[in-house]
Formats: sequence, structure tokens, C-alpha cells
Amino acid sequence: MKELYIIATPIGNLKDITLRALDVLKEVDLLLCEDTRVTQKLLNHYEIKVKTVSLHQHSTDSKIKSLLEQYDKIGYASDAGTPGISDPGGKVAEIAYDLDFEVFTIPGPSAITSAISICGFPTDKFLFLGFMPHKGKTKIFNQIKESPYTACFYESPHRIMKTLVAMKDFVADRQIMIGRELTKKFESVYRGTIDEVIEQVEDKQKGEFVVIVSK
Ligand code: SAM
Repeated sequence: MKELYIIATPIGNLKDITLRALDVLKEVDLLLCEDTRVTQKLLNHYEIKVKTVSLHQHSTDSKIKSLLEQYDKIGYASDAGTPGISDPGGKVAEIAYDLDFEVFTIPGPSAITSAISICGFPTDKFLFLGFMPHKGKTKIFNQIKESPYTACFYESPHRIMKTLVAMKDFVADRQIMIGRELTKKFESVYRGTIDEVIEQVEDKQKGEFVVIVSK
């Protein structure tokens, strides 16, 4: 049976990769990547030579199908973290099942589990909302306000401040944590009320962000 390996890769620090992921990266006949240039840095670091092909959110189903049909042992890696979590990884698995592949997970880091694990809020259950949408934020803010669980989302550096300010009235009584550039050189964690975190993030709007709102 043909095999597809969905491989989690670091969210910043290149040492955050499992021994099994390194083995599988060396063994696959083809590595599909969200962006070959990004994954190549990881491959170079570990001196792994493997054929790579780019598959991104605009890749058609027929392109994915045709690539899957050509090889027996294929890997997929997104730019960072666990494929399928707010990135195009899920599509590859979906098509592989249709082609009767066996699909294996090679688990590892994700920005969401990393941030959740250090937030210090109740997280036995949590609501993950993916990327905050550009439009329709009020609906999401209301969902967060009504949520009986700690809620979390991804946000881009260009919009982080705007989103925090717009969310203010919905979460005035809640504790917030922001994980910025986790595992990287400028890793920072900001905690407090929404006003307190806005003050802390104000002059640090570069990088990648996870926002967590306590229940
Ligand atoms: N699949 C990935 C995962 O498992 O974490 C997430 C992919 S999504 C396209 C990328 C978003 O994840 C970024 O915009 C940011 O919100 C968040 N992210 C990724 N790396 C991060 C990091 N090192 N620190 C904080 N947030 C991060």
C-alpha cells in the first residue's frame, strides 16, 4: 500500500523536531511542502537530501492527485508546526485517502498547543478559532465572550493591534495571554487584562502571534 506521512516541523527553533520526523524525511521518495524554500532550511540544517515539490493553498486537486500517483512513499510538511492546523495540509490527506493511501501522522509542535501549554488558564477544554478573519470579527468576538472555555486564535503582525483594540469591550473582564515568536530569538509572552496586553504589544508588532482569552 502507498504511504503518506504528515510531518510536523518546528515553529521556530530547528531543534524542535522529533527523531522519527528526521528518519521519515530521509526515507520518503518525495516531500511535498507548503513552501519548498522554507522547508529547505530545515533540510539543509539536518543535511537531508530529498526531492521537494511545492503544494500550496492554490494547488489544484488534480495536481495533488497526479503527484500522489507518481510515488509510493510521500511526506508532507507545512511551513511550520503541524500540517492541517490553519494551513493547507488537510487537503493532501483527504486526496490521499481517496487514492487508498495509508496516512500516518508524525506528530510534533504546533503554535496552538505550545501557547496553550504555557498560558496558565483552564485548558482541559478550549475553543480554537484558527485565524481571526479580516471581516466578521464581531461575530467571533461574541463567540469568545459567550464561550464557556478558554478561547484562542492566530493573528498576523499587521492586524494584531487593531484586533486587540476591537476586542476590548468583549473581553474587558477576562485574562489574556499572547504568545509571540514562540521558540524563536524574540520569544515573548504577554499576560494580563486586555488593556495591559495592548500596552505590552504596542511597540512589538512584528512576528507571529497566538492570542488566548481565558474563560
Ligand atoms: N500549522 C501551524 C501550527 O501547527 O502551528 C500553523 C500555521 S498558520 C499558517 C501560521 C500562524 O501560526 C501564524 O500566523 C501565527 O499566528 C501562528 N504561529 C506560527 N508559529 C508561531 C510562533 N513561533 N509563535 C507564535 N505564533 C506562531
